[in-house]
Amino acid sequence: MTPHLPEIERPMENSEYWLGFDLGASKMMAVVFDSSFKVRGRRRKKTKGLEGRESVTARLVEVIRGALDEAEIDVSQLDGIGIGVPGPVDEERGIVREAANLGWKEVPLADLLENEFGRPVVVLNDVDAGVYGEYRFGAARGARTALGVFPGTGIGGGCVYDGEIIHGRSVSCMEIGHVQVRENGRLCGCGRRGCLETEASRLAISAEVAQAAYRGETPHLAASAGTELAKMRSGTLAKAIAAGDTVVEDIVRHAAQMLGIAVANVVLLMAPDVVVLGGGLVEEMTNLFVDTVTEVANQRVMASFVGSFRVVVAELGDDAGALGAAAWVQKTASRYAKSSL
Ligand SMILES: [Zn+2]
Repeated sequence: MTPHLPEIERPMENSEYWLGFDLGASKMMAVVFDSSFKVRGRRRKKTKGLEGRESVTARLVEVIRGALDEAEIDVSQLDGIGIGVPGPVDEERGIVREAANLGWKEVPLADLLENEFGRPVVVLNDVDAGVYGEYRFGAARGARTALGVFPGTGIGGGCVYDGEIIHGRSVSCMEIGHVQVRENGRLCGCGRRGCLETEASRLAISAEVAQAAYRGETPHLAASAGTELAKMRSGTLAKAIAAGDTVVEDIVRHAAQMLGIAVANVVLLMAPDVVVLGGGLVEEMTNLFVDTVTEVANQRVMASFVGSFRVVVAELGDDAGALGAAAWVQKTASRYAKSSL
């Protein structure tokens, strides 16, 4: 006989599993993490937003089940699901307020998924998830205030202050892509005109580069992409600049300057100590973006703010959103479970 038998004889189940979901406009990904945030299972699919909400949510459920299968765990072992979505959300009620690229408005996504899986679900903005991922595991570790700016098809922003994602009572925030920078500017995906996104996103850059290509001003780019907008990906633009297309470089630099002005405005409001830049454009043209944003932002702030922030490049790549969403639900699931009692 063992003299000191533990009270509970069955082995303690002390493993945790968290699922992080990154719902993008073109693709979706679910990743199952264990308690030390090692990847245990992963599944991807195209989003196909045009097929409608029912179809997207059905695919979403399928992708979650696929990731659980790959991780070889049952849904009952899952401690929570964190899902980042492309648009403003009401985190406390788990509602997607609007997601223009998916055609969603006021979608009760947390309820839909809780009914399906019976596990706690936290809905957050996808860029907030990415910035939180960088704060927990990547380029913004240890920051007091981390601002993230991710220029891509649009321009996403997010902010983590003292370990918390900053958001409003009924809507997420830091929509830096939609701050107004030009009166009566170009029409934006959000339905308004002159947003930063219409001046400095990859789509805005590509549109301008396509016009320059049409005018015959981009010999190197024309050889690889012609004048076709869809072929002007970040890598193509980077190669054209490296080959000597100065017009392309001017267009990209102008976009980076616009980002720098926007960052300066946020620095004055929030005093971030770390500014994380991410996304395909930044990955392909790191020095151009980091140097330009650092220089322009420092030129545009009051003296006390000069040099008060570091501009760094995101480290986690495509996994940032899923990692951040999983880490955020780990941090907040109990908070919401308590508040709903
Ligand atoms: Zn807009």
